[in-house]
Amino acid sequence: MATNRTFTMLKPDAVEKGHIGAILEKISASGFRIVAMKLTRMTKADAQTFYGIHKERPFFGELVEYMTRGPIVAAILEKDNAVEDFRTLIGATNPADAAEGTIRKMFAASLGENAVHGSDSDENAAIEGAFHFSGREMF
Ligand code: UDP
Ligand code: MG
Repeated sequence: MATNRTFTMLKPDAVEKGHIGAILEKISASGFRIVAMKLTRMTKADAQTFYGIHKERPFFGELVEYMTRGPIVAAILEKDNAVEDFRTLIGATNPADAAEGTIRKMFAASLGENAVHGSDSDENAAIEGAFHFSGREMF
């Protein structure tokens, strides 16, 4: 069953470069409602769990280092067709392949440091949202 929520993180590189406001503006202008949001920092154990699906990949160690090096903005977003539409808004994983006007094209530096996360399925959106937020932090 499709839901209308997705989960995002503005990753440490985006926060370090001062892009929180510009990225949130683009997300709002694209019709997403913020259901939950916070500035937080993942521990190594958090990042290993969150990205557990990638644990056998060669980039896993670097990914955990990157995602834990500073604060992130975690958020749950609501819109019709949220998961697919948000993936379209952020663009391809590698910013070199991302379409013009997408968040990764505008704000990402590289395949590894690509500014923003977006859930890839309704099931993962629910798991990832619940990883970062309790029920009373969701509106
Ligand atoms: N990543 C990386 N090297 C790769 C593929 C991915 O460093 O070859 C990082 C990148 O930060 C990416 C994250 O691992 O966003 C998760 O990878 P995934 O394939 O799930 O991409 P996404 O769903 O974020 O587009
Ligand atoms: Mg992914």
